[in-house]
Amino acid sequence: MTVLYDEIMVRYGELSTKGKNRGYFINRLAKNIREVLADMPELKITAVRDRAHIELNGADYAEVSNRLTKVFGIQNFSPSIKVEKSMPIIKKEVVALFKEIYSEGQTFKIATRRADHNFELDSTELNIALGDIVFDNFSYAKVQMKKPDITLRVEIRQDATYLSFEDIKGAGGMPVGTAGRGHLMLSGGIDSPVAGYLALKRGVEIEAVHFASPPHTSPGALKKAKDLAAKLTVFGGAITFIEVPFTEIQEEIKAKAPQAYLMTITRRFMMRVVDRVREERGGKVIINGESLGQVASQTLGSMSAINEVTNTPVIRPVVTMDKNEIIEIAEKIDTFNLSILPFEDCCTVFAPPSPKTNPKLENCIQYEKRMDVEGMVDRAVKGIMLTTIAGGNWDQTEEEEFADFL
Ligand code: ATP
Ligand code: MG
Repeated sequence: MTVLYDEIMVRYGELSTKGKNRGYFINRLAKNIREVLADMPELKITAVRDRAHIELNGADYAEVSNRLTKVFGIQNFSPSIKVEKSMPIIKKEVVALFKEIYSEGQTFKIATRRADHNFELDSTELNIALGDIVFDNFSYAKVQMKKPDITLRVEIRQDATYLSFEDIKGAGGMPVGTAGRGHLMLSGGIDSPVAGYLALKRGVEIEAVHFASPPHTSPGALKKAKDLAAKLTVFGGAITFIEVPFTEIQEEIKAKAPQAYLMTITRRFMMRVVDRVREERGGKVIINGESLGQVASQTLGSMSAINEVTNTPVIRPVVTMDKNEIIEIAEKIDTFNLSILPFEDCCTVFAPPSPKTNPKLENCIQYEKRMDVEGMVDRAVKGIMLTTIAGGNWDQTEEEEFADFL
């Protein structure tokens, strides 16, 4: 098909029901759309009450469309052709468009919306006039009101007339950020990127927290986690990646706790650190990729021993999913192939041969008494490194020492 589009009309999702918060939702969605299209300066993006308009100004429609299908908070969108607001021209363009898109055996309907009430015809008159012109030019023309093959939408706006005939399904969900901020514990595995995606879907703006234990973990493992975070930016814009220096804590746990408790105590420290980072950075929730029964650290017993260190809500979006279900999503969001790259992360390096599936809380507390818990958590939090990841990319030069802001 050789139809050239001038703009894309974006319809919002669930947010249209949000009453007083509506303006906030719309602004946030517009910001997210701008972010995922930031490298295309020719686009002009405006968001109004019930829809957003993206003027293409020559940009590649297919690329813009592909990116829009991933942005949460969009119900659907329609590429449109802009034509002058004069009846002879509108008629001519409708015929030209139908020559491209309408074939024998298909049914059609015209659906007009008139935002400019001063236009010479009202919407019913327009539907009739444009329907007639289709009948005049196509001997096989057949109207059908319910589920026609082609619905031609005609919008008479203040600046021009817009014609569209396709509704492309959006990602649904809520605009990222409208539910507030959360901190995603992002490992290099399959589950945590999927958990992050699902939190984004319901409007949580995520910051990705990754624990690295150099030299026991490699730069490759760190890069992999950043690449995974980059994959998540397509759903709602830039993500702050937070690298936590975890070596001191892991070495201390290894020295002071018995094998069977290494995993549980490591997780308890991760939870403490992520909770502190969350608090300092205005997060409301912790998100992780735990899935019930998947490994020893993810039995209900382990999960409660780990969770005991915080009162902050912990969202586990994949907790009830089977591995296959998680993998299906990982493939859809294009993180799977990255996740299965073989880089040891801090848990595999220190993983005991047989972790406790039912750790006792008293024992955890007992072993932790041998350690300077507060001091180590403090140092880990002070040592975090921030990277802004945007547009599916990350740039080493953008790293900043978080300690400078404290
Ligand atoms: P994943 O596939 O996401 O790595 P997993 O099945 O390997 O999950 P675990 O290794 O037991 O599970 O980790 C459980 C959760 O703890 C992870 O989903 C993640 O949220 C968090 N986690 C584990 N390791 C790290 C890490 N190095 N940095 C940040 N979070 C981590
Ligand atoms: Mg893992």
